Order: sequence, then structure tokens, then C-alpha cells
Amino acid sequence: MKELVCIVCPNGCVMTVNSDGQSITVTGNKCPKGEQFAYAEETNPTRTICSTVKTAFPYAPVLPVRVSAEIPKNRIFDVMCEINKVVLRQPIACGDAVITNVLSLGVDIIATSNILKQSS
Ligand code: SF4
Repeated sequence: MKELVCIVCPNGCVMTVNSDGQSITVTGNKCPKGEQFAYAEETNPTRTICSTVKTAFPYAPVLPVRVSAEIPKNRIFDVMCEINKVVLRQPIACGDAVITNVLSLGVDIIATSNILKQSS
């Protein structure tokens, strides 16, 4: 049995999750999304990452980025290491891939700002 706070909406329901290896029961959730969240946390927890990459441009030394889809929670550190290796030397637009298929996870790292295009 463990306690889990649902992060799907601002209500932040505190749920109790019981798992016997074959079935999962959830209590304390105010809606079905909490149960879905708890099940995902027990079987395949995922997260999104928002971060920045370095650039070679003095007017914008960092560019905000995010993952194009959620990644396994246990790969966050590995993906952050890849993000931290990047130094952009060409202007890119919002939505452009900074890293394609990062660590073969089927997810891209994409720019979330046009600051490099607007200033070039
Ligand atoms: S269980 Fe439903 S109401 Fe409660 S935090 Fe999750 S999404 Fe929100």
C-alpha cells in the first residue's frame, strides 16, 4: 500500500494505491483520471521535461526546449544529459527539433521559442 498524490489536475487528490502484483486498487481519487494516473505510475510512469539548451548566440545564450511527448520517468536523467550536450550554432524556429529521437525513445527535443529566428 502506498500514498500517491494525483498530479493530473490542481485538486491534488491524495490516493491510496494497493498492488498485489496482479491487480491494482485505488481509493481517494475524485474522478477516473486519478485511477488512470495511479495505474500508469505503478506500471509505466512517465514525465515531460521542459529545459533549455545552450546557443552560440550572445543575444540569446539559451533556448527553451521540451520533449515532444512524455518519456519514461527513469530516463529523465539520461535525457537531461543529452540536452546539456547541445550548443545550437544555427537559428531554429519554435517547434523545430533540437534532437531527433533522443536516445531512441521515439521522442524529439523541440524548441519552444522563436527568439533565435526573430533576432537573426
Ligand atoms: S483524481 Fe481527478 S480530481 Fe483528483 S487530482 Fe486527479 S484528476 Fe484531479
